[in-house]
Amino acid sequence: MNDLNTLTELFTQFPGIGPRQARRFVFFLLRQNEGYRTTFIRAIQNTAAHVKQCSHCLRYAQLHIKTSLCDLCADSSRVDEVLMLVEKDTDVEQMEKSGAYTGRYFVLGGTVSVTGKKSYMREKELAVFLKKYGFGLTEIILALSATPDGEYTTDYLSAKFKEDSELTGATVTVLGRGLSTGSELEYADAATLKQALKNRV
Ligand SMILES: [Zn+2]
Repeated sequence: MNDLNTLTELFTQFPGIGPRQARRFVFFLLRQNEGYRTTFIRAIQNTAAHVKQCSHCLRYAQLHIKTSLCDLCADSSRVDEVLMLVEKDTDVEQMEKSGAYTGRYFVLGGTVSVTGKKSYMREKELAVFLKKYGFGLTEIILALSATPDGEYTTDYLSAKFKEDSELTGATVTVLGRGLSTGSELEYADAATLKQALKNRV
């Protein structure tokens, strides 16, 4: 494979990027000056070196060195008894922008596909997390996207939590319908998220 194709192939692995768009990225990089490319490469290296997965919520963030916790997990003013499950790191960022939520997070990293055959989420990690912290929870909020896979995962997890004896003290809630059908959480604006959180059932 030549260098042009290798770089194109790397970009096609980005979420939502097809071969044509990947090729445009490559030519864009070629047209920039050396300084831009050096900054770009360093930014990737620095991010990879300094941004790690939080040991608690599993999102990627700049962590506190001693605790390996992100800012949100290290913040003792947040409510420990309420846990929100989201699909992606960006969902946490959106929810934080809404300013309506003060509890804890766990990032699933994906969903169970609607066919029920494939799971892209951190199921094992979630089980470990709930074993450790589940008994103290009063509410678990399922904040998945209003997509078929998101809804399937909500049902799947609700059923699972009902059978979990460690979670008897926790009410399982789902974000209310202010979120339009088919929409992903990361594209919802702050007001919509605030409303969806208020209307949880
Ligand atoms: Zn965290």
